[in-house]
Amino acid sequence: MKNQALQQLYIRQLQEFELARQNYEGLKQVQVREIPWEHFHLRIQYNPARMISTNAKTDRQSLESRPCFLCASHMPTAQKGLPYLDRYHLFVNPYPIFERHFTIPSDRHLPQRLEGRLKDFLALSFDFPEFTLFYNGPRCGASAPDHFHFQMAPRHHMPLEEDVENDSIRHPLLRDDYYSIFTLTDYLRPVIVLRASDALILTELFRQTQQIIGQTIPFEEEPMINLLGWFDNCQWTVCIFPRRTLRPWQFHADGAEKVLFSPGCVDMAGLIIAPREEDFYKYSTELLTDLFAQVSIAPTDWDIIQQRLKHLVPFQPLPEATEPHD
Ligand SMILES: [Zn+2]
Repeated sequence: MKNQALQQLYIRQLQEFELARQNYEGLKQVQVREIPWEHFHLRIQYNPARMISTNAKTDRQSLESRPCFLCASHMPTAQKGLPYLDRYHLFVNPYPIFERHFTIPSDRHLPQRLEGRLKDFLALSFDFPEFTLFYNGPRCGASAPDHFHFQMAPRHHMPLEEDVENDSIRHPLLRDDYYSIFTLTDYLRPVIVLRASDALILTELFRQTQQIIGQTIPFEEEPMINLLGWFDNCQWTVCIFPRRTLRPWQFHADGAEKVLFSPGCVDMAGLIIAPREEDFYKYSTELLTDLFAQVSIAPTDWDIIQQRLKHLVPFQPLPEATEPHD
């Protein structure tokens, strides 16, 4: 039912919302090339329409001086949404990376913070199983860090989704009948994968994982992560990329050294968006190794985190019963 309503919204928006119609039409022209590694590959997409997101200025002054594009009151009149859980709307993203790319902002202009919202993330992935949900932290690729939003894309378009099924790179950390935690070995950008069929267990595993990341990497608003997840085979899979910075030095360089690499979830998941044609051709295994190393967690911190993850306790002990008094 919900999926049907979403499909209808998409069809109607492509008829009535000219900006979206043009950009989804343009998406058919994007170029793609693949760069193979030993056990996985990265996909590069040349997509000039994404310049606006990659180059977005997210410092406080820039944010305060622009009308927020995720507030309904500033949206073009032709842009319509589908209500969800009394506090979100699903909108067709007018600057797509994928065919059927949705943005799910909070109805209220509240900052990009995950606290208290993981259950909504899990509910969305359960209700829309044909989609992969994702969340960019406020300093990890969100182009509107002042307005809370999730995004979603059709499943199986990002290499990560295949890679988590690849036994040859899966490194198990913890396993039980109801959940598992693993990482991917030599994956260029460290990732933690949580799997569980119970939303409460997963929420608790996630809370503790986020805490461990925050204890290891300094942060301001919240531990720095990119988060992706989906619901498949009666269980949730949630992938967490710990980050140390938004952009590598090459982003700020001039001339031949410049690379417009400002990764969010989609890039971390192996689909690199290149808004400039020169970058599209410039990407190589050497360059990508360097870029991902700069924005991802440092190797020594990664070792510490993996050790700590082995001791997660998915069930919080109940408070000890006190003896009744007479
Ligand atoms: Zn807003």
